[in-house]
Amino acid sequence: MIIVVILLGWLSGALINYISDVLPKKRRLVHPFCTSCEKPQSILNYLFWPRRCPHCSHWRTRRSWIVEILTILIALCLWAQPSLVLGFWLSLVVMIYFGIVVIIDLEHHLIMHPVSIFGSILGLVIGIQLHGLLLTLLGGLAGFCAMLVLYFLGALFARFIVRRSREGFSDEALGFGDVILGGILGLILGWPAIMGGLFLSIMLAGAISVIYLILTVLARKYRAFTFIPYGPFMIAGAAALIFFNSYFVSAFGG
Ligand SMILES: [Zn+2]
Repeated sequence: MIIVVILLGWLSGALINYISDVLPKKRRLVHPFCTSCEKPQSILNYLFWPRRCPHCSHWRTRRSWIVEILTILIALCLWAQPSLVLGFWLSLVVMIYFGIVVIIDLEHHLIMHPVSIFGSILGLVIGIQLHGLLLTLLGGLAGFCAMLVLYFLGALFARFIVRRSREGFSDEALGFGDVILGGILGLILGWPAIMGGLFLSIMLAGAISVIYLILTVLARKYRAFTFIPYGPFMIAGAAALIFFNSYFVSAFGG
């Protein structure tokens, strides 16, 4: 049984890696290719060994290994202690979706529409099953609107403060993909748990930003308003509620 779980974890990681490699560059799911020279790769080389391009000798990124090790570990944890609300299989699907969002956001500062469409359907299916239609839609609406307010505040901040201090600053504090992600997480968590999820993500982003700021100041590499993608923090907040729900349900009245 444990070998099956490890295999499932590895397959989930391989799927996250494949979609994160292919989708941002080609906008659709094509045959695996080298991320450096973009020549097609054999499945054996791409998935297993040696994971090195025969044309340009480029190794597959370290990320592909890290993701696969992490998903195997998470799958083992989920199997040993399944999430109270989702159970093992749905947790695995949610983990794959979360992984794809986090990696594409970290590497490309982008939350892609095809991923968001899949997330919306997944969110609706899970939400309705967990909280019924009304609380699911209410959660989605609340998550979307809360992130929309933050999006406009971020845009105002960028216009009045960042532009004045640094010419050519083009990254928005929040992308519209984050607003859509807020809606999707709202569907999954439902009302009112989504507010707890967003609150957690803001706390987490604040804490990590402060640590990051201190480290860059100490390393004398400080630049004002460095872009930090916000999507991974939203995912972390939601994942905490979904996978460690029993601790939070009482705290946030969900
Ligand atoms: Zn290559």
